[in-house]
Amino acid sequence: MVKERVRILIVGGGYVGLYTALRLQRRLKKELKSGAIEIVVVSPDPYMTYQPFLPEAAAGSISPRHVVVPLRRVLDLCKVVIGEATAIDHAKRTATLTTLATEEEGAGAEQITYDELVLAPGSIARTLPIPGLAEHGIGFKTVEEAIGLRNHVIEQMDIASSTRDPAIRDAALTFVFVGGGYAGVEALAELEDMARYAARYYHNVKPEDMKWVLVEAAGRILPEVGEEMGRYTVTELRRRNIDVRLETRLESCADRVAVLSDGARFPTRTVVWTAGVKPHPVLAATDLRLNERGRLKCTAELTVEGTEHAWSAGDAAAIPDVTADEPGKECAPNAQHAVRQAKALGDNIVHSLRGEPLETYGHKYAGSVASLGLHKGVAHVYGRKVKGYPAWFMHRVYHLSRVPTFNRKARVLAEWTLSGLFKREIVSLGSLEHPRAEFELAAGGKPSQDPKGSS
Ligand SMILES: Cc1cc2nc3c(=O)[nH]c(=O)nc-3n(C[C@H](O)[C@H](O)[C@H](O)COP(=O)(O)OP(=O)(O)OC[C@H]3O[C@@H](n4cnc5c(N)ncnc54)[C@H](O)[C@@H]3O)c2cc1C
Repeated sequence: MVKERVRILIVGGGYVGLYTALRLQRRLKKELKSGAIEIVVVSPDPYMTYQPFLPEAAAGSISPRHVVVPLRRVLDLCKVVIGEATAIDHAKRTATLTTLATEEEGAGAEQITYDELVLAPGSIARTLPIPGLAEHGIGFKTVEEAIGLRNHVIEQMDIASSTRDPAIRDAALTFVFVGGGYAGVEALAELEDMARYAARYYHNVKPEDMKWVLVEAAGRILPEVGEEMGRYTVTELRRRNIDVRLETRLESCADRVAVLSDGARFPTRTVVWTAGVKPHPVLAATDLRLNERGRLKCTAELTVEGTEHAWSAGDAAAIPDVTADEPGKECAPNAQHAVRQAKALGDNIVHSLRGEPLETYGHKYAGSVASLGLHKGVAHVYGRKVKGYPAWFMHRVYHLSRVPTFNRKARVLAEWTLSGLFKREIVSLGSLEHPRAEFELAAGGKPSQDPKGSS
């Protein structure tokens, strides 16, 4: 059926990488076992992150290990390489990789050849040249950032509780989030909810002492749930005393003062940046066709335009939305598309290997669910608008059904059940970020500098 020893190289172990590999693993089991086909998955982390659970991980409702899926365990018929592709020469069917070993050996990058390429490095935060942002901004895309932010918020409450300086206290208790998409809104809403709860264990920090600010450049938030539900979310957040500022931009956060375009100034130690994403920069280090926004120009069959044997999907790919009324529209960068595209992509690689015609990818956006903290949510799915507890419940049921593997589903469900029986977890394990500090002190060395600076 296929030529001898075909190597499929998958760059990226996120939604697209994992689901494509799972699909191929299932459909090409015989060939993988016989060695006729080899799948190599290259990913900087040995796990896939289920990003929609990051806000709940930050709030402490799910432990960090359960929002990630170990690649080696689920991709047992694939070869998983922990590293990064730094360049791709598709004309020569060669990728340049750096791995932990290449760094350790100082041998420089290594080259790997392939027959089929799946390029799915996703996206990175879209930042702007705002003074102070690179030094003080906090992202919210990885599990490390989510847990780091949780520890940071609790640490700020500890600082506020113990300082005698009102300026330090005010800055510690001011939390500014920039960007009103689901990442920003859910992260803010979950963390505010967690901090409000945690405040009951502080003798001198009350929920009303904290200032939570959401800054959004457009005139609405949460476009994913539609206009009406977006307006409801603004009302709901304001009811919780969250300062939602629409049509406003962050102009500076230098010297730890967030300056907004409406003239407001907030001394703060927390500026969380969730103002959109842009395609991963590695795409520019390939000889593949990109569109004007830096995404890979793809066909509705999920191949990269203008070449053969190169495939893509997810945040990195500009895939025509064949269900849209107006021509020229692309599928939005979200998990709903990424998962479905990955499955279609896997099927199409199998079709291509077997010389069968390819299928066209088409999926009409079904809407979205978002959590706004424990027992609070908003949803707009298949035309139905839901808010409050039912929306929050829908959010949990939907994501439980979507998180990959039965193992992860069971663990997340167990955690939710336990946190329903016991009180919320409010511990901060910020010291995990500096595990050698105590021993360095004991051994008489100088404790290394806090990488977070003065935060
Ligand atoms: C906080 C948050 C909440 C979200 N909530 C929702 C939601 O509720 N609903 C929804 O539909 N969408 C949601 N999304 C968006 C969704 O997670 C993304 O659209 C989806 O992850 C895109 O999948 P992907 O495979 O393209 O990219 P990713 O899942 O980001 O995977 C890309 C992978 O490639 C790896 N990689 C990067 N560079 C290289 C390289 N050079 N070499 C090798 N590997 C590389 C990365 O480390 C990563 O593992 C959310 C996103 C965030 C950040």
